[in-house]
Amino acid sequence: MGSDPLVAARLEMVDRQIRRRGITASRVLEAMECVERHLFVPADHRHLAYEDSALPIGSGQSISQPYMVAAMTEALELRPENRVLEVGTGSGYQTAVLAELVSQVYTIERLPELSIQAQALLKSLGYKNIEFRIGDGSKGWPEVAPFDAILVTAAAAQVPQPLLDQLAEGGCFVIPVGGPPDQDLYQIRLRGDSYERRFITRCRFVPLVQDKEH
Ligand code: SAM
Repeated sequence: MGSDPLVAARLEMVDRQIRRRGITASRVLEAMECVERHLFVPADHRHLAYEDSALPIGSGQSISQPYMVAAMTEALELRPENRVLEVGTGSGYQTAVLAELVSQVYTIERLPELSIQAQALLKSLGYKNIEFRIGDGSKGWPEVAPFDAILVTAAAAQVPQPLLDQLAEGGCFVIPVGGPPDQDLYQIRLRGDSYERRFITRCRFVPLVQDKEH
């Protein structure tokens, strides 16, 4: 019986790029072993799907480096019963990793063409715990807030206040702040009346594009 080279490449990606760089959360490692990253990468870059890098997904956007997906997911400190908001659906890869780990994912993407493609793929893969929205995610999704965790996968000049307002007590919020070109990735926690901010790592994300207020 021949072994699947894509499965082998994925297990090696998790071992070399993620586990050996210090990600220890076993559920995160299992989710990254399970989600088929090559399905979320355009055909002309598919041979690079398990490499240690971000890759273009069209419309000037990118699928994040696997290590960054793992580091952000670990920092969310997710539990199976959690409801999570993701801002920046992109290819849907990070969305799939989240959907493996929690009961419900709400994901917002401002570019319709990317959202529509991600919706089709994630539905074809059988995910039933993801709700999609097209629009400016920096406003959050107030109708279904608060969220146990919030993940922003694009770089914000400042942390958007509506997202802070939609974080549940004790919840975790992970967001790259600053730049361009580089940002600081932070974990922010709501504790009573104040927010605790913890630096995770330097990173490089595409900008969070916010609608102008009228
Ligand atoms: N997590 C994605 C993945 O796994 O493919 C990668 C996301 S990519 C680095 C960032 C995404 O955020 C882009 O698709 C971009 O269009 C989207 N984005 C930027 N500003 C946004 C906003 N205000 N609201 C929603 N999505 C936004």
